[in-house]
Amino acid sequence: MLQHDVIIIGGGLAGCRAALEIKRLTPTVDVAVVAKTHPIRSHSVAAQGGIAASLKNVDPNDSWEAHAFDTVKGSDYLADQDAVALLTQEAPNEIIDLEHLGVLFSRLDDGRIAQRAFGGHTHNRTCYAADKTGHAILHELVNNLRRNGVTIYDEWYVMQLILEDGDAKGIVMYHIADGYLEIVQTKVVMFATGGYGRVFNTTSNDYASTGDGLAMSAIAGIPLEDMEFVQFHPTGLYPVGVLISEAVRGEGAYLINSQGRRFMEDYAPSRMELAPRDITSRAITREIRAGRGVYPDGRPGGPCVYLDLRHMGKDMILSRVPFCWEEANRLVGVDAIYEPMPVRPTAHYCMGGIPVNTEGRVRLSGTQLAEGFFAAGECACVSVHGANRLGSNSLLECVVYGRITGRNIAEYVQGRKFSDFDVQGYLNAAKSRIETLLSKKGTVRIGALRQEFQDCMSDHCGVFRTQEGMQEGLNKIEAFKQQYEEVYLDDQDTCWNTELIEAMELQSIMAVGEIILTSALNRRESRGAHSREDYTQRDDPNFLKHTLAYYSPAGIDVQYMPVVINMFEPKERKY
Ligand SMILES: Cc1cc2nc3c(=O)[nH]c(=O)nc-3n(C[C@H](O)[C@H](O)[C@H](O)COP(=O)(O)OP(=O)(O)OC[C@H]3O[C@@H](n4cnc5c(N)ncnc54)[C@H](O)[C@@H]3O)c2cc1C
Repeated sequence: MLQHDVIIIGGGLAGCRAALEIKRLTPTVDVAVVAKTHPIRSHSVAAQGGIAASLKNVDPNDSWEAHAFDTVKGSDYLADQDAVALLTQEAPNEIIDLEHLGVLFSRLDDGRIAQRAFGGHTHNRTCYAADKTGHAILHELVNNLRRNGVTIYDEWYVMQLILEDGDAKGIVMYHIADGYLEIVQTKVVMFATGGYGRVFNTTSNDYASTGDGLAMSAIAGIPLEDMEFVQFHPTGLYPVGVLISEAVRGEGAYLINSQGRRFMEDYAPSRMELAPRDITSRAITREIRAGRGVYPDGRPGGPCVYLDLRHMGKDMILSRVPFCWEEANRLVGVDAIYEPMPVRPTAHYCMGGIPVNTEGRVRLSGTQLAEGFFAAGECACVSVHGANRLGSNSLLECVVYGRITGRNIAEYVQGRKFSDFDVQGYLNAAKSRIETLLSKKGTVRIGALRQEFQDCMSDHCGVFRTQEGMQEGLNKIEAFKQQYEEVYLDDQDTCWNTELIEAMELQSIMAVGEIILTSALNRRESRGAHSREDYTQRDDPNFLKHTLAYYSPAGIDVQYMPVVINMFEPKERKY
């Protein structure tokens, strides 16, 4: 058995920022970071467009209050406003701190950090490093972990959270390279395991975004908050689904339909292409449904619309959004200097997650906190995004709440001891889970079942939802659970068995998918990214509240928790 004072699962922006903060404040605390990828391959590295902060370098009229208001309005008033205030107040300092760590931001002519426009933000406040912002930030954070003596376990798959009577005591992890199982006893466990894009069939997320941390928490008895709110990013490159950053529209690109019209004037005339993502994704889906979509070769009536950069000119395209140009060129053979890109909505971001308070402590219920368990980043729900996240607020959440959570862990761990548990029992259970999977003699391939499950989620819980469709989705899930009992694995080896890892990830995907569908079915209103064709209006009297979904193999129990509203009264959301 291994021991560390603090173990952080996740080597993305949130996990690394927290680890760094703990070490800066208390260098003697023994901190380890575990990741199933190399930390530098965490999905954070793929973040493109930027990170929001009211630095006022481009727009002197900006303020943290304006940033907070845009965020709360963007959230369709479901965000907790105390959490949003902290996020937006801390943002400028956090950018300066990243800069001091060595992050290379793009510059204005006078040398200050440049800031661009982004959807739903009323001021130009998004700082960026061309369209490779996540890459620039994550590399510096990981370098700084090494410099500060954080232990890194890369390519270890965490299988289980050891949580007994609301008290987190450690984790069970599996070494992907050689199949070795290890128990880690800790005083504090922090989850920073990222999102779940792979629950859907078309996503901008990396292959590792399978919602493991969410599933492990749910299985251990932690409720998941607001899981019905799935962000579909408007501009996934068709057909692959990879992201074409909102920065492209921030720099002036148009969305056009088969008639060559900038159709956003019908949906959000004041913000046009820079309306928030939920509104823009619905607009694109409606255009496609109405037969005004295109095929990639230009014929009308197809499954996508065009993102047109041509008027921006070669110099601007290649200096401001070079990576997006390269993606379209490499993946679908489009040269965006001369041709429009085919795009459609793609599953992108998890607004809900493991419920935490503004100190990063995980909630056991609406009123109780777990001991020794913290979370931050995309897997957590402190609720700064509510029902819809604004672009460039997620990297910000990762670094601001990564830091705040790190600071609180540094203090919390001082008064905390290691707790005993049945080490052999946990080890035996993990061994048996793996042996059972390896020895299954069914006929169902993991890849095929995963594809069917992802198709089901995209068909029944996509941009638009209905009672009937979601119920059908849940019925199918019952059948998929039976099929999971009938899987078989070709690879029986203990050395780098990716099929085994995919089999465990599929269990996470299935648990998370079921929680998303159940939470969505129970929210009988339309709010932010949750858009119901049978309940088309926002219903504040009945649903201005957070969902808390408690998972058990027998079924999911849905409860609710109040929203913190202390700055901006809910209003109708118009752009
Ligand atoms: C293509 C793309 C572009 C984006 N662009 C922007 C942008 O411009 N601005 C913005 O604000 N946001 C953007 N986002 C969103 C933002 O990048 C993410 O929300 C954020 O980076 C998530 O960081 P994280 O630290 O929470 O998790 P991640 O960076 O996803 O890291 C998760 C970590 O957890 C580890 N992990 C997960 N499960 C396990 C397990 N079972 N065992 C061990 N380790 C595990 C992984 O290995 C990884 O290290 C973008 C997202 C995508 C997909």
